[in-house]
Amino acid sequence: MERLVCYDCGETYPAGEAARCACGEPLWFDTHGTGFSWPEASGGGGVRLGRDSLWRYEPVLPAATVPSGLAAAAGGTPLFRAPSIEPADGPRVHLKVEGTNPTGSFKDRGTAVGMARIDGPVGTVSHGNMALSVAAHAAALDREAAILVAEDTPDSRLAMIAQHDPHLFRVRGEYGRLYEDTLDHDLGVAFLNSDAPLRVAGQKTVAYEICEAFAPDAPDAIVLPVSSGGQASGVWKALRELDAAGVLLSIPRIYLAQAARCDPIARAFRRGDSRVEPVAGEPTAAVSINNADPPSGNRALAAVRATDGGVVSVSEESMLAETDRLAADAGVSVEPSCAVATAAVRELAAVSEFGPDDDVAAILTGSGYKYGATEVEGSSVREVDRADVPDAVRDIVS
Ligand SMILES: *Cc1c(COP(=O)(O)O)cnc(C)c1O
Ligand SMILES: [Zn+2]
Repeated sequence: MERLVCYDCGETYPAGEAARCACGEPLWFDTHGTGFSWPEASGGGGVRLGRDSLWRYEPVLPAATVPSGLAAAAGGTPLFRAPSIEPADGPRVHLKVEGTNPTGSFKDRGTAVGMARIDGPVGTVSHGNMALSVAAHAAALDREAAILVAEDTPDSRLAMIAQHDPHLFRVRGEYGRLYEDTLDHDLGVAFLNSDAPLRVAGQKTVAYEICEAFAPDAPDAIVLPVSSGGQASGVWKALRELDAAGVLLSIPRIYLAQAARCDPIARAFRRGDSRVEPVAGEPTAAVSINNADPPSGNRALAAVRATDGGVVSVSEESMLAETDRLAADAGVSVEPSCAVATAAVRELAAVSEFGPDDDVAAILTGSGYKYGATEVEGSSVREVDRADVPDAVRDIVS
């Protein structure tokens, strides 16, 4: 795994030299010929929850060492069926709860694998889950971390990142360009941005875990939120590897979900294009997925086309309703950015793209305990005097 390869034109590069192909598309690690087999004969339901992490798949990860400490705990997240939120006459819905990662999102997978390969200072361009993840993992390994956040990042978020004591830079000027700036220059700091090859390598493990749980079968579809396209690339890469190794009876279709207010990939899909064009984008509650010019957008779109899936734009209203539904009916608190996944399942069931015979795995990418509920709904809190507590409690069952 010392080579990077372009999914689009097939050009190869030595690992570490570049993150982009000369053709402009993002690179990923070349695992061709590495071979893949499930870590142990499991015959289904193989992921042992609570004990395994993504390091279960170490032979197909480009890490120099298997880490201990925080990085050792990434991945191995729960996957369970949630009948209470399944649409009528719709598919069986299985939730992959990435909020149980050490810093509360799937970003820990890519960070853990990246940090296990890189020694020395690390950085990232993010003001959300990726910033938090890189800052925490750097703290655990006593590494310097440069975190570049946008000028308008709210203090509440900065405070969350700052607890891990990274070098935090609030950047004035065009934040969108920084992504390329940190890739193009030799800064002495390895930037683990959202579609960096190491990050994609770590993030592919979510799809190994999902497929292993169904092995030797596979779910009919995997549905996930998309922003930069990094995670979607990882899921596609995993499916390609599993397919090449012949360990799956069928290949799941990849469906991506975006907020309708910022949906460049969905628009390209509807146009029938293979190239994603930047959009203007409006503010949305889906703060973790509002990327108007996704660096791995074309690759995410290719993943969808290659697996015969689709891309769904989810309205603000249905996203917020779904966020509430997941918490109130399934007991899973997520950010609105994650709820687009199961909202998309609902929309796809409504147009019969999914039916009652289908198994659909929805990746809930991050916890809602960080960025979820911001206000208490009127009906959910009652003021009560201590003397009235017994009656008030009895009331809820009468
Ligand atoms: C980063 C993030 C995404 C989007 O992932 P990409 O790899 O950028 O497409 C989705 N959901 C959450 C919660 C995230 O933090
Ligand atoms: Zn190329």
